[in-house]
Amino acid sequence: MKSFPILNEEQTDSLVVNTLQWSLANGLVMYPPNFQQYSADNAPISLFPTPIPKSSFEDAINIQQTYNELYSNVITKDKKWLVQNIEQLSRFDKDFTGKLFDIYKTLINENGKVPQPLSLGIFRSDYMIHEADNNQIKQIEFNTVSVSFGGLSTKVNQLHNYLNKSGAYDTDYSYKYYDDAEIPISSSIDDIAKALSIGNYYYNGEVENDKTVVLFIVQPNERNSFDQRHIEYSLINNFGLKSVRLTLEEVSDKTTVNSNKLYLKQTMDEISVVYYRSGYAPTDYVSEECWKARLHLENNVAIKCPSILTQLAGAKKIQQILTNKQVLETFLPDLSETELEKVLSTFVKIYPLDDSEEGKIAKQLIKTDPGNFVLKPQREGGGNNIYKEDIPSFLEKLEEKDWGAYILMELITPPIHKNKLLRNDQIFEEDIISELGVFGTILFDESKGDIKYNETSGFLLRSKFSSSNEGGVAAGFGCVDGVYLY
Ligand code: ADP
Ligand code: MG
Repeated sequence: MKSFPILNEEQTDSLVVNTLQWSLANGLVMYPPNFQQYSADNAPISLFPTPIPKSSFEDAINIQQTYNELYSNVITKDKKWLVQNIEQLSRFDKDFTGKLFDIYKTLINENGKVPQPLSLGIFRSDYMIHEADNNQIKQIEFNTVSVSFGGLSTKVNQLHNYLNKSGAYDTDYSYKYYDDAEIPISSSIDDIAKALSIGNYYYNGEVENDKTVVLFIVQPNERNSFDQRHIEYSLINNFGLKSVRLTLEEVSDKTTVNSNKLYLKQTMDEISVVYYRSGYAPTDYVSEECWKARLHLENNVAIKCPSILTQLAGAKKIQQILTNKQVLETFLPDLSETELEKVLSTFVKIYPLDDSEEGKIAKQLIKTDPGNFVLKPQREGGGNNIYKEDIPSFLEKLEEKDWGAYILMELITPPIHKNKLLRNDQIFEEDIISELGVFGTILFDESKGDIKYNETSGFLLRSKFSSSNEGGVAAGFGCVDGVYLY
């Protein structure tokens, strides 16, 4: 493994200027808090790519299509099982899971089925490398809704590639420090755009049609809009498709349903795909109007990315249940024993917190060994977990019957590196740990179960100070990084 490039002060200063100007020139940017539309900052990034064992990286890439298939099967193969599990979660979490599930039930009650059986998934499976276990990849979580940083990931890889090629990583300003193949560029921008175009194609009965448009549902005052914009620009440049952005609050004013099809009122453009980059957290539904908007978006034949069931299948509770070999086998019946073991090897121990035998073990572990665990509620978007010694006192405040809303997960201990992180123009040189995400895209028939499209769609590395528990880049305590494969 090569060490990080060692640059003197002058070289570092010029590296920072190169980095900032490349970032601004190429859209590796994010809005600051309280922003004006005209002014963005360079995104928090690493100055150098972070070392990742090549074999771990390849394992994560190679398993993605199986994971896509697994989650498709979870949604299609035994609906009763999924619905029962979600119903249970709804009881603990009436105001969010419950309300999403209510929308699903309304659709079924009104139509006997969801109006559009085709479901588009843009997924991201997140891992850390477990140093104590032979550098094996271990899954943090599987995301089925609003996965972000497909845009900025490609950009940070391009930046590192540029810095490397231009000699900025070399003490003599002349040589490439890394071989090109050691610092790959994520294809996520174009691959995610392609998935949206595939959604458009299937919406139109497997016919190319550039008259229908993709609707991005976004958060008001989204700071990470450039991440999404890169995908929109690829969609129009590479696939000839227009996209439109609306917040949940704008939906009822600006869209209308006619003969079960969703249209933009102003242009009467027909919407083929509704792509949710909002709607994954309770805070996205600031009013009843937003919940109405969600139902309105669901109750027509536009393809949803993701459908309600696909979103709910990404619950951490479902991930916990899937770590059981028998359960996993039922959803991946065609896998060989070796392939099944491969999937199982990506799991760390995850316990339920209910009255089952496993639940009892978990409750014991919380008393004797909380330091090895993280407690997770059924939420997305960062900042929701409870760590280590905080777990017992947190649970004490709840009634034990409500503990079932949480899962208890073994902590993964990834290798630590001393990369340099850049926020604005400030360099932080600290111990960092990294989380590798692999994007996957899939189009499947929610009622029949057949998979029409299933691809691995690039990757993302996020790094954070090893001292901070969480790594949300947009939330402000992490950065977008690149991989150096060794
Ligand atoms: P969210 O849906 O909020 O993103 P995650 O499950 O991804 O929830 O957890 C948030 C962060 O917490 C992760 O990005 C990671 O930094 C940390 N984390 C979660 N699970 C583990 C684990 N088992 N071991 C170590 N760190 C973890
Ligand atoms: Mg996460």
